Amino acid sequence: MMGSSDVDLEGVRPSAPLPEPCLSYWQRTTRAFPHLNRNHNAPLPSRKRYVIVGSGLSGALSAFELTENGVQGEDIIILEAREAASGASSRNAGHVRPDAFRGFKRYSSLHGQDQALKVIANERLVLDRIGEFVRKHHIECDFNLTTTFDVCLTAEFAAYEAETFMSFKNAGGDVSHVNFFEGEEARKRTGVNKTVAAYEWPAASIHPARLTHWLLDTVINRGVSLFTHCPVSKVERSPAVDEKEWQVRTPRGTVTTPTVIHCTNAYASLLLPSLNSYLAPNRAQAHSLVASNTFSGSKTLTNTLSLRYSLNHFYSLIQCPGDGTLILGVSRTNPTLSAETLRGIVTFDDGGYNEDVFTDVLKQWNVLFPGEDANRDNLDHAWTGIIGVTDDSIPFVGPLENLDGQWICAGFGGHGMARIFNCAPGVVKLILGSDWSDTALPECFQLTTRRVAKMQSLHNTTDRNNYILV
Ligand SMILES: Cc1cc2nc3c(=O)[nH]c(=O)nc-3n(C[C@H](O)[C@H](O)[C@H](O)COP(=O)(O)OP(=O)(O)OC[C@H]3O[C@@H](n4cnc5c(N)ncnc54)[C@H](O)[C@@H]3O)c2cc1C
Repeated sequence: MMGSSDVDLEGVRPSAPLPEPCLSYWQRTTRAFPHLNRNHNAPLPSRKRYVIVGSGLSGALSAFELTENGVQGEDIIILEAREAASGASSRNAGHVRPDAFRGFKRYSSLHGQDQALKVIANERLVLDRIGEFVRKHHIECDFNLTTTFDVCLTAEFAAYEAETFMSFKNAGGDVSHVNFFEGEEARKRTGVNKTVAAYEWPAASIHPARLTHWLLDTVINRGVSLFTHCPVSKVERSPAVDEKEWQVRTPRGTVTTPTVIHCTNAYASLLLPSLNSYLAPNRAQAHSLVASNTFSGSKTLTNTLSLRYSLNHFYSLIQCPGDGTLILGVSRTNPTLSAETLRGIVTFDDGGYNEDVFTDVLKQWNVLFPGEDANRDNLDHAWTGIIGVTDDSIPFVGPLENLDGQWICAGFGGHGMARIFNCAPGVVKLILGSDWSDTALPECFQLTTRRVAKMQSLHNTTDRNNYILV
């Protein structure tokens, strides 16, 4: 496992998204989205009531929720550094996979048992909420509600899962939706012959770019302006006498506003430098494979899988219901990777994929699915994206203290699809005057002075990268 000494966290300076990123499978299959480069050279308005920075799932859903709750679309602008939704929301591994119990120990140690229970319960609600949303609006985004398996590939990891499951259950955590299998039954159910034990619970897979594009298209039709290729370089107090407004600066001009919503995920510390110590950019990699006979027709996967050797060494697998493409995600800190690859994960560079990770994936595919013989021919594509890892494994949500009128919804690690659908609506509720208790979010998601102090004390003692979800 990688320790913090292996990574020069301080060596990576806050950055805007870098130009010329690679394209993911999801982006390659949505190049005709009409708003991809919207307003890329139109003049920027000088004033807006609401400025959202970032057009990923957080930004798009925040705009949607504002308009759902009575704000005029014409009062909202979304500023996006690259093409529409070009960050992690269009680069992920397609899993909407709530944690059912595994994170309990980690969250309990950092945030207390009560909050840990809430963090996990919140993710289950997100799955329901996305499902309802997609059904209600008939969104074509390959949403596939199914079950997922946490596949324990070693006895050690099976023991870790068993212990965590019991501590979660004993603390009052709801496990009524979790099935457990071991030995031959586990191997039969998962289809993976190295399986020692497996836990199964409801989850989904999705075409994440299509969901985000649907949201952007909808809010644009409601009057929201989306300005792509418009990186925000600074947010400063307006020099006006009462200093109640903010100036959002971009190379294309400045927008003055009373309300800024930071939906910039891994990049948040460029505009909020005080977050730099607690939010690390990590490059994650995923792969698409053309389904061979073993995964085609009636043998198409009906569940999703998280194939786990240990907490930090795993592979995630979904199969798209549309074209049957398999999407294989990889944990970032696999012990099989070279020291150079491990050092390279703390970066903003999503311009290509890593060959070492790619080789590991090919090797593991043949170990986990013997007879499948994965090679460069059936491995269709590989890509990377940047995730924002917070020091205490939970996102930053809500008002920014001492920056009246600025809000944040960011820091989702490798797990935003299981969180954003409650966090973005929660931030919007707060902006429109509700109390935290109306958001139904765990209180620990707030970015309070107390939380910052706690992260500060953790900073030198824990490994930022030591807890990876999905
Ligand atoms: C390879 C990979 C696999 C993953 N797999 C999964 C998974 O299976 N399940 C899951 O739940 N999560 C997964 N994730 C994580 C998930 O994708 C993210 O948590 C989620 O998409 C975050 O959404 P967001 O809108 O907050 O951020 P993003 O989608 O990153 O959006 C932020 C946007 O802000 C823009 N931006 C940033 N700074 C500026 C600026 N200064 N000015 C203007 N615009 C700016 C960026 O260009 C970007 O479009 C994965 C991520 C990756 C990279």
